Amino acid sequence: MAGTSLAMTIAANSPEIRNDMTMTEAPSIPDSGVLEKTALETYVPPAKPSLVGLSRPELAERLGEIGVPEKQRKMRAQQLWHWMYVRGAQTFADMTNVSKDMRAELEKHFTVDRPEVVTEQISNDGTRKWLLRLPGDGVGRAHEVECVYIPETDRGTLCVSSQVGCTLNCSFCHTGTQRLVRNLTAGEIVGQIMVARDRLNDWIDRETPNGNRLVTNIVMMGMGEPLYNFDAVRDALLIVSDNEGIGISRRRITLSTSGVVPNIARTGDEIGVMLAISLHAVRDELRNELVPLNRKYPIKELLDACRAYPGSSNSRRITFEYVMLKGVNDSLDDARLLVKLLKGIPAKINLIPFNPWPGSKYECSDWEQIEKFSEYVFNAGYSSPVRTPRGRDILAACGQLKSETEKLSARERQALRAMAMTD
Ligand code: SAH
Ligand code: SF4
Repeated sequence: MAGTSLAMTIAANSPEIRNDMTMTEAPSIPDSGVLEKTALETYVPPAKPSLVGLSRPELAERLGEIGVPEKQRKMRAQQLWHWMYVRGAQTFADMTNVSKDMRAELEKHFTVDRPEVVTEQISNDGTRKWLLRLPGDGVGRAHEVECVYIPETDRGTLCVSSQVGCTLNCSFCHTGTQRLVRNLTAGEIVGQIMVARDRLNDWIDRETPNGNRLVTNIVMMGMGEPLYNFDAVRDALLIVSDNEGIGISRRRITLSTSGVVPNIARTGDEIGVMLAISLHAVRDELRNELVPLNRKYPIKELLDACRAYPGSSNSRRITFEYVMLKGVNDSLDDARLLVKLLKGIPAKINLIPFNPWPGSKYECSDWEQIEKFSEYVFNAGYSSPVRTPRGRDILAACGQLKSETEKLSARERQALRAMAMTD
């Protein structure tokens, strides 16, 4: 687009100083010409770092730094791994088979902290929402993200955030109107799952009639664009899916992206989780407006990347998310073109009723229109569940943000009756 200032893509994070992003000038209210926002704040890690989120070799390395002899490191790292990710230990003192001296030494240098829970809200349908505080830039306000747990009869889905704010500016998304504060670290991403297990008392020794866990599925559909924080998201999801630890299978983890094409193949190759694409429009002209990243990676390129997605098959379908916007993208013509576009891709379509927020320029499609649309794609052979609103009474909404709601009037809060995403 001529004459617009394109903010630079956020700097790739080095493995050592992940999330240490330089302060750069960026508009706090994005104009429609900005494709990607730059991070505004730097991250000052806590003085005593948490071991949560480190890989086994990284754990061994940290142990080396505090003087654990080389031949013990692997075994010690394995012990810590088990205590953290199988038993959910919240302190080193809980780790009873680790020697007292070792525990004292660990305590001196590290923690096993997860993000701090600021508020917990429990909806009358059982949905729970946690507002989590993360280390900030050391001078300003702390950074906050949300994490939502949605129980269903046969599973429990946790909606996890990947960034504070978002790099992108999708016009229908509340998070998109906010500045990007920073990327989350791998530890802060894993930490959200650990917080949920802590609060739900969902670790291995919990008494359950059938031994099943409560958190069985993860969706990377909270705040942020996970593929613009690739390294941390990958490292975190590899920990979460490790079957000697938290053990949530890759088939039960879904990563949702607005279409960062170059990182789609990497997601399949390096993480191997299920993929969801926020498609929302079937013509470039409209998608450019709804998901401005489309100007960089148009529909054809995006769908080509989906066709080539490593590991997709009829039993591992790609989910296409489609937000239903009244009079914008919800005609039967759109449905027809959608079916045509997805030909040859093992796909399911997830219709999402639009969640209004104060100042948003869209309305949710009428229910009859959603049904007609859904019927069309269903008759064309696609499963097309409509996401049911969950946790309305606590404003639980994946893809939206709570902290902003603090400032809203009662009427605006009403308008923000939100839902969490689940199929
Ligand atoms: N950034 C990623 C993941 C987070 S958003 C992505 O865009 O895919 C998770 C889902 O919520 C996306 O499909 C997004 O398009 C959708 N979403 C965002 N705002 C919404 C709203 N107001 N109403 C309904 N769905 C919304
Ligand atoms: Fe970011 Fe996703 Fe919202 Fe778009 S829909 S602004 S990518 S969180």
